[in-house]
Amino acid sequence: MAIKNYLLIFICVIVGTNFIVDGNAELQRFEHPAKADGSLSILVVGDWGRKGNYNQSQVAFQMGIIGEKMDLDFIISTGDNFYPKGLTDEHDTAFEESFTKIYTAPSLQKQWYSVLGNHDYRGDALAQSSPLLKQRDSKWFCLKSYILSTDIAEFFFIDTTPFQDKYFTDPEDEVYDWRGILPRQNYLTTLLKDLESALRESHAKWKIVVGHHTIRSAGIHGDTKELVKRLLPILQANNVDMYINGHDHCLEHVSSGDSPLQFLTSGGGSKAWRGNYSWSSDENDQTKFYYDGQGFMTLQITQNEVEINFYDIVGNILHKWGTSKSLFSAI
Ligand SMILES: [Zn+2]
Repeated sequence: MAIKNYLLIFICVIVGTNFIVDGNAELQRFEHPAKADGSLSILVVGDWGRKGNYNQSQVAFQMGIIGEKMDLDFIISTGDNFYPKGLTDEHDTAFEESFTKIYTAPSLQKQWYSVLGNHDYRGDALAQSSPLLKQRDSKWFCLKSYILSTDIAEFFFIDTTPFQDKYFTDPEDEVYDWRGILPRQNYLTTLLKDLESALRESHAKWKIVVGHHTIRSAGIHGDTKELVKRLLPILQANNVDMYINGHDHCLEHVSSGDSPLQFLTSGGGSKAWRGNYSWSSDENDQTKFYYDGQGFMTLQITQNEVEINFYDIVGNILHKWGTSKSLFSAI
């Protein structure tokens, strides 16, 4: 009996300790300075790592040209960085074959900030965050979730793959690397709580959330219902300006009907042309642009204005959109 009681106390202490650690967990924060004039020029690409195939190299070439004109500050990758099954480990040569040897233009030798997609979880999901990759190519940076602060905007990178039920309930023949994720509901609850408090406390003029999976999309994957239910209300309650994602291999802009939030998909980094378009989302939301082919998105930010442009593979601007905030708008 005494042994049983001792065991019970021991378990309580362990559980209690974990709870405190989780309760205090915060998203790691990094800083990237804006240009001297206070502006930022960013390029966004997703769903790309195919060793140059499916027009990945052509997209990369055009990124280099547009990046040069824009004088990029950094590049965002919206995930599915390495197909079909992420990296096998931190030594996988796919890292050079799909990244270092593809994005060779001088203008693209800036910091890349990446999140993981579902395909990245089919390999060694921890490998992409290994310091060894940074040694192999210093422009690489990837963590599951983190905050990037600049002078005028804050970027909240969120690990969206563990939200989607089907990877757990019906993984088909795929094996996902859930190290660090389980127990899943604790992971998701903590992540959302940390995101919510970081957004609430942010004083940035522009708040931008980046994840791999769609919230609103007319592409083949459509809306991600788990994110509509759990993530979207937090974004809307905290005046997030944009949610940027990949996953659907297209370029897309959807405007929220009941908040200033813009849903922006940049998933055209390589294989595209699925031929699917089915809009069945909330009637309040408006699809402003949908392109089924390859390309990328750019984002130019100043204190008062944001402009986005979607480019195709030959450098045509397919869609342009902008918005402004007064100098003294409420934060
Ligand atoms: Zn994906």
